Amino acid sequence: MKKSLQKLKEIDTELQLISHTSALLGWDQETYMPRGAVEERARQQALLSGILHDYLTDTKVGSLLEACGVSEENLKGDNNLDERDRAFLRKFSREYFRETKIPKDLVVAFSEEASLSQAQWIEARKKSDFSLFAPHLQKILDLSREKAEKIGYTDHPYDALLDEFEPFATTASIKKIFSSLKPELMDLVRKIAGSKQVDDSFLLKNYPVREQEAFGRTVLQDLGFDFNRGRLDVSAHPFTTSTGSDDVRLTTRYQENQFRTGIFGIIHECGHGLYELGFPDDIKVSILAEGTSLGIHESQSRTWENIIGRSLPFWEYYFPKLKDMFPNQLRDVNLEQFYKGINKVEPSMIRVDADEVTYPLHIILRFELELALISGELAVKDLPEAWNSKMEELLGIRPENDAEGVLQDVHWSFGAIGYFPTYALGNLYGAQFFNSMKKSLGNVDDLIKQGDFGIILGWLRENIHQYGSIFTAEELCINATGEPLNPVYCSKYLENKYRSIYGF
Ligand code: MG
Repeated sequence: MKKSLQKLKEIDTELQLISHTSALLGWDQETYMPRGAVEERARQQALLSGILHDYLTDTKVGSLLEACGVSEENLKGDNNLDERDRAFLRKFSREYFRETKIPKDLVVAFSEEASLSQAQWIEARKKSDFSLFAPHLQKILDLSREKAEKIGYTDHPYDALLDEFEPFATTASIKKIFSSLKPELMDLVRKIAGSKQVDDSFLLKNYPVREQEAFGRTVLQDLGFDFNRGRLDVSAHPFTTSTGSDDVRLTTRYQENQFRTGIFGIIHECGHGLYELGFPDDIKVSILAEGTSLGIHESQSRTWENIIGRSLPFWEYYFPKLKDMFPNQLRDVNLEQFYKGINKVEPSMIRVDADEVTYPLHIILRFELELALISGELAVKDLPEAWNSKMEELLGIRPENDAEGVLQDVHWSFGAIGYFPTYALGNLYGAQFFNSMKKSLGNVDDLIKQGDFGIILGWLRENIHQYGSIFTAEELCINATGEPLNPVYCSKYLENKYRSIYGF
């Protein structure tokens, strides 16, 4: 059994090396690759997806898992193995069973369509014309449904898709969480709309990109991001990807007349990057050196971006430095005005620019539409209208064109159906973790105020990062906070913060 386990770990290492290689090609595609290279890049990525699939689903892997006592009913294998090995087997065998159910031609077709569809989405968004993207989305949905049928599910085909991003979560569990979150957020948005709006005009002045980047790099360093093991670049949509266990790539985008975009993009991705760089040496280049779910991953980015990065103590520390850098832009602005300005809440069209109160409503919209598309209740041709109506229902505003409506996000174009809910889970997990951190450290605001982020990062390392995927999201949450995911922490955090900003 020991020998079989060892062999499985060797196979796993090779799989991780191929994945990191594929991630590097993906990073390149989003940052520096010339546009003309898109077709062969799609083939390169499809080839690697195929190789990964073959490797993972080889019958040899099945026999090795069996030799370790693994079955679909007992993913962790033999009781006599130590817990770390059993965690490895659970994670590995889940992927094995999932992947063996998907035929290789479907994997390759999916990967190829994803690359082409993404390129077509860029064109469609540029022209703000959904009809150019619609046939590709139809294909992605057909392939996704086929995938869900192959993988299998109990209640809803969406379960099978969601599971890829948020293992062990179900459509029903997300529905339940969102059904309590939705009216609370809508109520909070109403209260804010009934209060005096804060001024953020000084954030829309001209902030040269070069200085924005310099400031962002300083913050990254202060928060603990290690530039010996990572980079910061620019892409159309900010993202983080690991192209090696000591190579974590962050991207952001800068807007000269919107100060918030660059810096909060950087702090957000830094949160992802710190998680990726926080996996311990003994699980490096293994399947356990991954975030345990995208919801947990997003909790790290949201905590740094919103709970810490948009807090008053954070800017007590950084505002004087920022004012030195941008003396003209911030001439008549004091700390309190700045703090209120960066936390302005206002329903808006674009998810990635949304404030932290309206943000989860953008997610709920996408979740409801994805469910309807996958179950066939909503036809692709009716999607733009469904999107616009839902925006009106949830946020009281209506997109004027497809670019600021249904075409704004890249996710569906590359086949990520079931991904969006993880963003909102990130807000919820983040608030719950932060609440526990405060209880255990006590003086978190003082630490932030002094620019001392090491102890905060230490808590996250100790309670979350060091475990990689050893625990499931739920186990991790219970270990770190004493209870499973509970949306009340996020609601309380938002209510308290925005009551004090808006005075309702
Ligand atoms: Mg993120």
